[in-house]
Amino acid sequence: MLGDTDYIALLEQLDEGVIIVSANYNVLYGNKTAIGYFGDKLLDVPIYNLIRNSEVIDAINDSAEINISFPYTSSDGIYKLQLSYNHKPGKPGILIISNQTEEENFDSIRRDLIANVSHELRSPLTSISGFIETLQNEKLSQKQYSKFLDIMSEEANRMDRIISDLLSLSKIEINEFIEPQTEINLMEPILLAKNALELRANELGKKIIVDQKLDIAPMIKADADQIIEVFHNLIDNAIKYSIENSTIKIILEVIDDINPKQMSVTVENIGTGIGEEHLPRLTERFYRVDKARSRNVGGTGLGLAIVKHILLRHSADMEVSSQVNGKTRFTVLFPIYG
Ligand code: ADP
Repeated sequence: MLGDTDYIALLEQLDEGVIIVSANYNVLYGNKTAIGYFGDKLLDVPIYNLIRNSEVIDAINDSAEINISFPYTSSDGIYKLQLSYNHKPGKPGILIISNQTEEENFDSIRRDLIANVSHELRSPLTSISGFIETLQNEKLSQKQYSKFLDIMSEEANRMDRIISDLLSLSKIEINEFIEPQTEINLMEPILLAKNALELRANELGKKIIVDQKLDIAPMIKADADQIIEVFHNLIDNAIKYSIENSTIKIILEVIDDINPKQMSVTVENIGTGIGEEHLPRLTERFYRVDKARSRNVGGTGLGLAIVKHILLRHSADMEVSSQVNGKTRFTVLFPIYG
């Protein structure tokens, strides 16, 4: 048989908050989790003074059995709590409180994402629909006709790029928490990304140079395809947002005054730059400093979000420094072990 202290010990271990109230709703007992939410001075306090939420209080007063979610502000933040309560008149009752904050955050991220994706896809789609209507209803010269088709094709390409980037993001998220085990020479994916973009840079009168003074091969544990994607996005941005006839530099260095040592790769360009207030938000999905400019250069606003997720998987950090109308540097820091 379990004794009273055994029951208390079991209640103390629960992740849910447990509060026992008397028939007139004064607190007789709160476990550790409940104390975490409401503080340690809850004994003998009427439950109404702890949960200062009129909807919850009305529900406790009005029904014998409730199950209700409510926001709760404590000294260390705002929680979303779910309260279940079963009460027989004239008897003590037990309240079970579970924390739904994480589920709520996850839901709100998912809702925002769906709203953003719909919005981003709707604008090219609206433009295409508008042109289809014009083509159907108006007599157009051959020149106008082919101009409209070009715009429609560019809008369709934009939708295609957004969908490819979204698929890329969801593919990355599948194994985001599995650390890569293959050892690779970091130079190889960097050069592959550089070579793939060099022609386009040259067409815009821009040069890409690699500057490296390494005594040893830069070996890291990584997924080579994902590292190509990181540098493809960073170099692509450096091309998109730099001034004409400029040089984009890729600088590799070992940073050995910290433990573990780091392999640092900086992609540097001179161009529009990024105001300081935008820096913390750059890796958010669909965040763009200048929406029109990003759109004109074929951006989707997803490149740096992809970079962030890949780097997370590689335990790598990214630092950004930028001057408006000056130098912008994206530096990726990979840990080197052994
Ligand atoms: P996009 O597809 O719009 O380029 P990204 O996620 O790659 O989206 O980048 C987000 C935003 O960060 C860009 O829209 C741009 O405003 C800014 N940005 C990224 N790289 C640079 C850079 N090298 N110079 C200036 N601004 C940049």
